[in-house]
Amino acid sequence: MAADPAVPDEDCVLCPPLRFRLNTIAGLPGRDAVLAEDDGFFLIPDLAPLAEGHLLLVASAHLPCAGALDPDLWDRAIAWRDTVGRLYRRAYGDSELLLLEHGPATPQGGGACVDHFHWHLLPGASGVRAVLIRDRLDGVPASHAVLSGRFRAGRSYLLVEEAGVATVHPGDGVPGQYLRRATATALGLPGPWRWQEVFALDENRRRFLSTLNTLRAAAGDNGLAA
Ligand SMILES: [Zn+2]
Ligand SMILES: [Zn+2]
Repeated sequence: MAADPAVPDEDCVLCPPLRFRLNTIAGLPGRDAVLAEDDGFFLIPDLAPLAEGHLLLVASAHLPCAGALDPDLWDRAIAWRDTVGRLYRRAYGDSELLLLEHGPATPQGGGACVDHFHWHLLPGASGVRAVLIRDRLDGVPASHAVLSGRFRAGRSYLLVEEAGVATVHPGDGVPGQYLRRATATALGLPGPWRWQEVFALDENRRRFLSTLNTLRAAAGDNGLAA
């Protein structure tokens, strides 16, 4: 039987009481690093940003993936994505963004690092889809219907939106943190990419705080409203 999404999962790092615990371990702000929120979602820098501006859009409730969102929450997630694009334009001069989701884990071991809805958002980055295709993970055009279908069928997926085009790729059996690795490859990052290897480093703390300060300044006194 499916768990009630209204009930937080006490073992989930994106639910209370563990929410923000990893930030504390890394010496980073948690609750105080939330850039914006409503009753459905909150926006926070990634614990181990792959680039300046790397954010997570996280569901307030313990919902496993975008395929599990009801149509209203899906529309609201898309509106948040657009809000982040406007924020990137103010902060970095361009609203282009990379959106990534590793869908739900499966009994076979899927690609999700955390089975709780979160979208990774990075400013101005692309090239991840090409890495997936090179790895023979060909995609199809993404929509809420496609993602819900995969979720209901018990399949995992990888969602990639870049340059305004969203595609969904097979996610069953991909290695842990596959999309982090693919993004590091696409961005040509030389260093380690597993979050556990970088999240407590000084350089990581600097990037997290720079992201927070830059985007908070860009949001301005009016917050993140359009
Ligand atoms: Zn959760
Ligand atoms: Zn993630």
